[in-house]
Amino acid sequence: MRKKIVAGNWKMNKNLEEGQALASEVKHMAEDELSGDVQLIMCTPFIHLSTLKGLLKGSAIGLGAQNCSEHESGAYTGETSVDMLKSVGVEYVILGHSERREYFNESNELLAKKLDTTLKSQLTPIFCCGEPLEIREKEEQNKYVQQQIEESLFHLSAEEVSKVVIAYEPIWAIGTGKTASAEQAQEMHAVIRKQLEGKYGKEVADSISILYGGSVKPANAKEIFAGEDVDGGLIGGASLKSRDFIDIAKSF
Ligand code: PEP
Repeated sequence: MRKKIVAGNWKMNKNLEEGQALASEVKHMAEDELSGDVQLIMCTPFIHLSTLKGLLKGSAIGLGAQNCSEHESGAYTGETSVDMLKSVGVEYVILGHSERREYFNESNELLAKKLDTTLKSQLTPIFCCGEPLEIREKEEQNKYVQQQIEESLFHLSAEEVSKVVIAYEPIWAIGTGKTASAEQAQEMHAVIRKQLEGKYGKEVADSISILYGGSVKPANAKEIFAGEDVDGGLIGGASLKSRDFIDIAKSF
């Protein structure tokens, strides 16, 4: 059975006080309303992680970062290492979000290194992939996403790749209010799983959680999550509202 996951990506939102209030609301609502078969994760700004780890103590909610350095330590001003993340109790790290690819020039090759560093430290990477609008319009999205996966993931062993969570996030659906249809999401997730099967075999491919991200809201989550290969969501905007985030998690 694959893990069902609903992960929130707060991006660069919420100061510490606001972040504490949001995390506390989510924690209490999750305790009251969720059965425990969905893994909730909050990926917050670095600066909040240590405080939020304390706040989430005793809860099953996972804590994640939104990026990390590919280097283990050293003279990399402004960077955050996996060891630092581990030392404050972080368990997950988003890698290759389209905003990092676009604004910080993160390439498939760099992400391959970040995956290595992350897996070595036993953090769970949430690896994002997804095509821009012009690629979708040319109907080349499968090839595009397969290349991202091949270039960043395929150097990993079967054991390593089994520890990766994949998030398919079509760029044209992120923060735009435009969602991929449930069919488009399922279709791409099946393409990704087939590709993983070709390289690592069916057992490994079937064990990897593939999340959909791109304007998931309480109103559309149920339909999207119904896809056979859709194992949950990576949620941006709606993760900033406790009610919406929890309602999305209840959509399974
Ligand atoms: C995201 O940034 O990963 C995302 C899916 O954002 P949104 O839900 O706001 O589209």
